[in-house]
Amino acid sequence: MSKDKSAKIATPQAVRGTQDMLGDFADRFQHVVDRFEHVRRLYGYKRIEVPVIEPTAVFARSLGETTDVVSKEMYSFEDRGGEGVTLRPEFTAGIARAYITNGWQQFAPLKVATHGPLFRYERPQKGRYRQFHQLDAETIGSDSPLADAELLVFADQLLKELGVGEGVTLTLNTLGDAESRDAWRTALVEHFMGHRGDLSEDSLARLDKNPLRILDSKDPKDRPIADSAPDIDAYLTNEAQDFFAAVTAGLDAAGVAWERNARLVRGLDYYRHTAFEFVTDRLGAQGTVIGGGRYDGLIETLGGPATPAVGWAAGIERLAMLLDADVIDNRLDAVIAVEDDGQLALAMKALTALRGSGFSTEIVASGSPRKRFDKAAKIPAHALISIGTRDGESYINIRGDSERTIAAKAIVQAL
Ligand code: ATP
Ligand code: MG
Repeated sequence: MSKDKSAKIATPQAVRGTQDMLGDFADRFQHVVDRFEHVRRLYGYKRIEVPVIEPTAVFARSLGETTDVVSKEMYSFEDRGGEGVTLRPEFTAGIARAYITNGWQQFAPLKVATHGPLFRYERPQKGRYRQFHQLDAETIGSDSPLADAELLVFADQLLKELGVGEGVTLTLNTLGDAESRDAWRTALVEHFMGHRGDLSEDSLARLDKNPLRILDSKDPKDRPIADSAPDIDAYLTNEAQDFFAAVTAGLDAAGVAWERNARLVRGLDYYRHTAFEFVTDRLGAQGTVIGGGRYDGLIETLGGPATPAVGWAAGIERLAMLLDADVIDNRLDAVIAVEDDGQLALAMKALTALRGSGFSTEIVASGSPRKRFDKAAKIPAHALISIGTRDGESYINIRGDSERTIAAKAIVQAL
């Protein structure tokens, strides 16, 4: 038995870099997910669910040991059975693993989409959390540039439907095919070797393992060297040029604006052709809202058959922060004030009929009957319905004149 019942238990704290959401931000978050679900259906992407937890090898192998995510950001631990597991830091690797282990090759090309929480041990700040959430879309088993274009048009439509298209720019690059990429890599290493003395420590380490990543270094020491490095253009094979031209032609035909960013890269060897980011200057340092590209070698790296694939991921919190203040309409269709307890049954009938017909409705039926009308009037709603008794008769009064209110009125009057 505990000695002192009044001894206070320490209030638990949230894990650093995680967020609780209620009210406005939770609504914005859900709005982003709802629009995503709507648009992914329009584009024929199937919903997919993959585990939050995977064997560590799934991410270590696919993301590569030298990337920031694997070397510094993963939540990895041994479970009680002694197996090395990791909380997913991204979706793509888990989806690729699922594609292999379930034999989904039979469905190729497979268009899938999902959303949910991801975990990275990062320095928490605005727009950067340790548990964050992404929307994700992937096309697996297609080597057509039309697949890349379709995903980009999908992302663009999503941004437009969210009303954030204006402030967000699609920046695009090509990493070419294997031949182009290798030739460019050699040229880059040569360029960087000539400036080794001036590179940051991080970039010196990248020079060996991941030289392309020096191009998008944020270190001011590296910037002039990265900016003066050769573009891939001179090294692109005809096939790689044609592929990029087909992607951009697809975007132009769909009316999607894009900008070339010759410094945009993905470090790992299995990335090919298209690399892209949707960026904004409205979120400070955390300006990338969607990132993605073609990863033709990933599934093979994970032990599956050679499978071309392309995809993107969007930060839900960052998109939610970009939404206009008036995007979320939290008003209910109706609020019912029960002004006389004798009419509770009638009020419940009205409440059930309205909700059953698709009208969001709340009821105020507790506390002093005289105060219920005022209480109900404070709840944001299109219609205010009061139900009570006058001269021995029940009455229903409906205020509000929106189109939906008129439809709601008809339902209540038909009771
Ligand atoms: P960044 O350069 O901002 O670290 P990243 O290259 O690590 O981004 P991706 O792995 O491409 O990002 O993830 C896609 C998107 O997920 C990002 O564009 C961003 O919107 C979101 N995102 C990534 N990491 C976080 C995080 N820690 N917190 C919130 N959102 C994130
Ligand atoms: Mg990151």
